[in-house]
Amino acid sequence: MASWEPVIGLEIHVHLKTRTKMFCRCPVEYAAVPNSNTCPVCLAFPGALPVPNRRAIEDCVKLGLALDCAVAERAVFHRKNYFYPDNPKAYQISQYDEPLCVDGGLTVPTADGEERIGIVRAHLEEDAAKNVHVAASGRIHGATATLVDFNRCGTPLVEIVTAPDIHSADTAKRFLQLLRQTIVELDVSDAELEKGSMRFDVNVSVRPAGSDELRTRTELKNMNSFNFAAKGIEREIARQIRIYEEGGTVDQETLHFDPTNEDSPPLRSKEEAQDYRYFPEPDLVPVHTPRDVVERLRGEIGELPGTRIRRIADTLAFYDADVLVTGGLDQLWAKLVHEGVDPKEAANVLANDFAATGGNPNDVNPAEFAKLIKARPTITRDAFSRGVATSFSGSFVAGVFTEQKAVSDVAELDPVIDRILAANAGQADAYRGGKEGLLGFFVGQVMKETGGKADPRVVSERLREKLGPSTPA
Ligand SMILES: [Zn+2]
Repeated sequence: MASWEPVIGLEIHVHLKTRTKMFCRCPVEYAAVPNSNTCPVCLAFPGALPVPNRRAIEDCVKLGLALDCAVAERAVFHRKNYFYPDNPKAYQISQYDEPLCVDGGLTVPTADGEERIGIVRAHLEEDAAKNVHVAASGRIHGATATLVDFNRCGTPLVEIVTAPDIHSADTAKRFLQLLRQTIVELDVSDAELEKGSMRFDVNVSVRPAGSDELRTRTELKNMNSFNFAAKGIEREIARQIRIYEEGGTVDQETLHFDPTNEDSPPLRSKEEAQDYRYFPEPDLVPVHTPRDVVERLRGEIGELPGTRIRRIADTLAFYDADVLVTGGLDQLWAKLVHEGVDPKEAANVLANDFAATGGNPNDVNPAEFAKLIKARPTITRDAFSRGVATSFSGSFVAGVFTEQKAVSDVAELDPVIDRILAANAGQADAYRGGKEGLLGFFVGQVMKETGGKADPRVVSERLREKLGPSTPA
């Protein structure tokens, strides 16, 4: 059987965090009253003229620089003509053959090196309005009406297009996570997938391994989470391989996913080659970005997440470094380590316990949090969990939780342990017969019995002593 290589390219749209829209002074606000942020420019009244948003241009340049792109001396806005209810001008102002940022790349660190994913371009454009389908599913099929909210119309977007350099669903996911964290740290967008301020489409094709041909690709749209995207890509790769191995051909088509139901199969539609009749926007002059502005923006870029992953991976395992940085937790981690917390322990607490709380790491007082983590082995599990859950509130004081000492007194624990061993004699025999994993079951029983107050290390020590060796028959 031939082996196949997936070829994946991404197209990412990011909403910029500007105060006003791309070509008018309407505010950019998420979840405002529908159609409250509109004006003659973004509603396309005849004669209304666009004025570009300087901040949006600078944000796009900054993002381009962080993606190692060249900033064009001259960029041109074009009209992309198409008719749709969300597009009142019947064209979108976008950039076509002279985009603002070109020829970059983002290096994605991996456990055994790194992969550089080419960035073909990063350009500016305006978003369309939002069609709201009135139906239980929120999808166009089965809708009884479609309403248009023009608040989003004309808001600034950066479109980032990668080269088809990605060869696995996992790399696609890791690239997107790293890109998102880079964008968030540049402070040009909040890049929140749930809010739609970061959206992406994925192109997928497969080819015989070792060849460099590009076969027919399909496009996956409406991806709303990184895991969902990875799952969709895996399925699509498998589907295409199956078609080729059965002697068939892959059709060029678009797969629309239902973001509200990850398990429902995608709707398919044939992709027709649209002619957008691009031509330069006559109401706007070309964008010239002075070199000193480019250099000022370059100077504003701090150490990028990809670089930090590699640096932190010198101290921690690669996986831990990756989770900390892409989760926006590494700065707090560094402060905890500075406060004397063991690096691995700090990483575990942040990635497992803290991340689950949804707390903002910037709101944590590292000195107090460090006290809680250092006291962990001596306090009850419950006190530790409650401490982590409140660590990001302004009033957090570790002492409230570190005083709740775990019971490590053997005289107090032994009767409970004996009772549990007696009540579960079958399990105890199984443990002695080689099922060592049952130790966790017994520890859990004792913890339950003591209301989470027992010191689990002492409990497992006593259990091992009382149960004796675990040897397979
Ligand atoms: Zn407006």
